Amino acid sequence: MGKLTVNGIFAAWFIFTVLILLGVPPTCEAQDNGAAPGASSLEDLTLRLLDLNAQQLASGTQSNSSQLLDELQTVAAARQQLLAALSESNPGEVLRVSLPANLRATFPASVQTLLEQQVEAEGLLEVAVEDRKQESRLHFSLQSGGERLTLNFATNPPVQLLTGSRVRVHGVRVGNELALSSGTSSTSLQVVAATTLPSTLGVFNTLVIMVNFQDQPTAQPFTSAAVQDVVFNQTNTWDLENSFQNTSLTGNVAGWFTIAVNSTSCDTGTIKTDAQAAAQSAGYSLANYSRFIYLMSSNSGCSAWWGWATIGGSDVWINGMYQFATHVVAHEMGHNFGLYHSHTVDCGTAVVCGSGTLSEYGDWIDVMGAPSYTQAGHFNSFQKERLDWLNSGSEPPIMTVTSSGTYQIGPYEGQNSVVKALKILQSSSSSSYYYVEYRQPVGFDSFLSGYSDILGGVVVHLASPSNSNSSDLLDMTPSSPSSFNAPALVVGQSYKDSTAGVTITPISASSTGASVQVTFGQSTVLAPPTNLKGVVQ
Ligand SMILES: [Zn+2]
Repeated sequence: MGKLTVNGIFAAWFIFTVLILLGVPPTCEAQDNGAAPGASSLEDLTLRLLDLNAQQLASGTQSNSSQLLDELQTVAAARQQLLAALSESNPGEVLRVSLPANLRATFPASVQTLLEQQVEAEGLLEVAVEDRKQESRLHFSLQSGGERLTLNFATNPPVQLLTGSRVRVHGVRVGNELALSSGTSSTSLQVVAATTLPSTLGVFNTLVIMVNFQDQPTAQPFTSAAVQDVVFNQTNTWDLENSFQNTSLTGNVAGWFTIAVNSTSCDTGTIKTDAQAAAQSAGYSLANYSRFIYLMSSNSGCSAWWGWATIGGSDVWINGMYQFATHVVAHEMGHNFGLYHSHTVDCGTAVVCGSGTLSEYGDWIDVMGAPSYTQAGHFNSFQKERLDWLNSGSEPPIMTVTSSGTYQIGPYEGQNSVVKALKILQSSSSSSYYYVEYRQPVGFDSFLSGYSDILGGVVVHLASPSNSNSSDLLDMTPSSPSSFNAPALVVGQSYKDSTAGVTITPISASSTGASVQVTFGQSTVLAPPTNLKGVVQ
């Protein structure tokens, strides 16, 4: 009887402690606490689980296969399923209701395997972006000890890190999902060795692996020749033109292969593993390639997205139920090079603001924006600077302007060594700069031919080299009704940033380049007449 008494006291403490941990008054039924959807039933299940375990502990028959144990297992399994579903959408809630290790240890062994666990793990980080039509999502995972854990941060995902960084994490594990409190807190994530952006210059030997699925083994929506043309002809030409002939693609198209995955399953890790295994079996040596594109026939399980790519890594997944085209491949491989998206921020009638409405892909003249367009516009000069495709080695320069004067920039797309952009400090506190370009309808920018404002002026981006996810196209005429459709600052207009103390005025534009006056300080710039707007001189 003594044992029962001890167990009874322990059970009472056990329930009380966990109710406090859950933020639930011990005398009340579980109730809606205003948390995210699913939180109440998760609390219900947690309370039921604790109640059953307390009964079991009190009975002193922990190891038998009683009805109580069956019920414990059933509730634990249901709760585990709910936790797994919440882990991505609401990791903070998973952390909130997670059982401390000493409580978990009081459950029968067969139930413990169904319970979340506080874990530490070290391994290589993978940062990936999921490209949806109007939005995108970042995904973090850890390759550790032969397994792949998905990392879900409740706050501040570590966008400053690149794929390949070695990190140590601490969080709550449910299945292969790990909930972590913050990507910037050393209690949940420590950087053991941060990787730097790998070189984006040279020849990238790329293997395109075409896969269909075991439930649709005959689906082959693209011919090998068409894929060869998109990747190794068109996108290769795109890379050469954008990098001023310093980056190119070569490689092979493998498949179609049928992999042991259903078309309703969107497990990118398994799709990659199976696709690579199939290609290897067919005689392709994976070690020969530095880039991989997994071109799926059509995957309804992945219907939310048209592309998925590692940032600073080597893998691209493309869902064949949507487009397979140059702008898609150039965009996804841009992520592999280390780029995030090119945004716009709607500031109402202002050009720049502290907070506005972000459009994830709003920069429609840059292929790292604009997913719903079919054009493959050049990366903007901030993005090219990040890749060393401008202002590095033999690449054309960006001129950093620090004193008043008139500066020349050449057509942005020209394959020559003239200055391609001006870089002007906007804020020293945020280390942000204006990037001024003169875009013309040349090469892959030919789609700009109908946009008179862009052709007759300069395009301005705002970005911070210290933040890889900071590229914003500015609307230099923010009062126009169709925001960002006519973003340029045309000859005859001035843009004055009173805070930065700088005025930018394009004073001429021709086929050979644009002349831009930059004035620092308080001196007033007399802008030319505004009736020249839109006229290419
Ligand atoms: Zn993207």
